[in-house]
Amino acid sequence: MHPALAASLLSKVVAIILFPVAPIWAVIVAIVPDLYLCYHMFEPSARGLVPMLTRFETPRREVWLTIDDGPDPTHTPRLLDLLDAHQARATFFVIGERVTRHPDLVREIIRRGHTVGHHTQTHPTRAFWCAPPSRVRTEIDAALAALRQVDVTPVWFRPPVGIKGPFLKRILTQRGLICAGWTIRSFDSVNPDPKDIVTKVMKQVRPGVIILMHEGQGVHPQTGTEGIAQLLNRLRDERYTCILPRLDQLA
Ligand SMILES: [Zn+2]
Repeated sequence: MHPALAASLLSKVVAIILFPVAPIWAVIVAIVPDLYLCYHMFEPSARGLVPMLTRFETPRREVWLTIDDGPDPTHTPRLLDLLDAHQARATFFVIGERVTRHPDLVREIIRRGHTVGHHTQTHPTRAFWCAPPSRVRTEIDAALAALRQVDVTPVWFRPPVGIKGPFLKRILTQRGLICAGWTIRSFDSVNPDPKDIVTKVMKQVRPGVIILMHEGQGVHPQTGTEGIAQLLNRLRDERYTCILPRLDQLA
């Protein structure tokens, strides 16, 4: 059991004992560990439950472009052409059930020099934070099996919307998966204006940032691939290169 979860459970026992003599302190004792737990579950950059990589070391004008929620038969081929045109490299965090539906797209991502990360089997967003270990294992292992079918053994894992539960760390460690977060969240899932998305992203771009973008059902339908298209143009204009960082560069 994760120490934060154990502390939360223990605090309830202490609170029950304490309540008859010091009710206010009992409530405080009961709540504080849960506040810690909630913060580290729901804040994507928090590392208390699972260590999340949120940037990488580089002396050059380099960024790591990551594209979540594919593969997608409409968006992925267009994105691969755009990345080729900019000599850019990206990591596609794919959903297992979509890998099974579009295996050739994943093979093409690899063939074109990009990497593929693990983004769960079904992309559960509502209950993944409180899922029991068996459910978390199923999500992880089913997607690993789907990726194995296309000869991919992922190194990186990214939880849906960055939410992490107390059982995730051990399950990832046992499978040799490393949790990759991001530095810049583009909000391209909810923003229909590619120009606005790119303006906001570029304000935060520095050497070594990890940029989170989406494709397929993860991106706003009005934005489509245009957000990444415009972002690649702006990065080129500002002399940034999209690279795949080595593991020892990440922090
Ligand atoms: Zn996602």
